[in-house]
Amino acid sequence: MAKHQFQTEVGQLLHLMTHSLYSNKEIFIRELVSNASDAIDKLNYLKLTDENIKAKLPEDWSGEINIKLDEEDKSITIADNGIGMNEEDLINSIGTIAKSGTKSFVEALTGDAKKDSNLIGQFGVGFYSVFMVAEKVDVISKKAGEDTAYKWTSTGTGEFELNPCIKDTSGTVIYIKLKDEEAEDYTSKYRVETIVKKYSNHIAYPIFLNYSEE
Ligand code: ADP
Ligand code: MG
Repeated sequence: MAKHQFQTEVGQLLHLMTHSLYSNKEIFIRELVSNASDAIDKLNYLKLTDENIKAKLPEDWSGEINIKLDEEDKSITIADNGIGMNEEDLINSIGTIAKSGTKSFVEALTGDAKKDSNLIGQFGVGFYSVFMVAEKVDVISKKAGEDTAYKWTSTGTGEFELNPCIKDTSGTVIYIKLKDEEAEDYTSKYRVETIVKKYSNHIAYPIFLNYSEE
């Protein structure tokens, strides 16, 4: 088991997001769907430019995003079959924020939750918005063309764990264990469908919503 510390800045960011953007929490779905779409864009490009990657992809591969709601488990899972992340990517892209994003984001915050929620996308700190609703997040990912998959786990409170795991196909699965008070909203088929239509209508790939019938 490997534990890593978030940068101090990241801790500050998580604190701000959880406490200041409370009235716009739903945008975490917009941010995760947007990342999923970017990841599929990247694999689409590699498929055209990298023979090795192309050879490893199923003949009929096409990008798609799957959202799964589980009321009983109080979880929402957002999965894509895009480029995926390896160990290094997981540390650098979602564990560290080496980018200047966090600091500029914190400085640009206005205190107006609606305005501030739009800053998230602009400053490249979208992934972290998930911690506004999550008790715990697992990012299970396998990079296209590579053999080992990794699971990144964090409660958003200062550190994350990173371990090898099993995953067949390339892409990323983001499993979000919801906070008790958010569980009803984000496992509701109607609510999530409305949010996806509101913010992610322009996404070029199919978005499937899976849920169990009551
Ligand atoms: P941004 O999308 O603006 O770069 P985010 O915080 O939303 O900022 O995401 C940070 C980075 O994490 C992305 O740039 C990407 O490299 C990586 N990432 C996040 N989600 C995924 C995903 N589903 N598949 C592959 N990479 C991802
Ligand atoms: Mg993003």
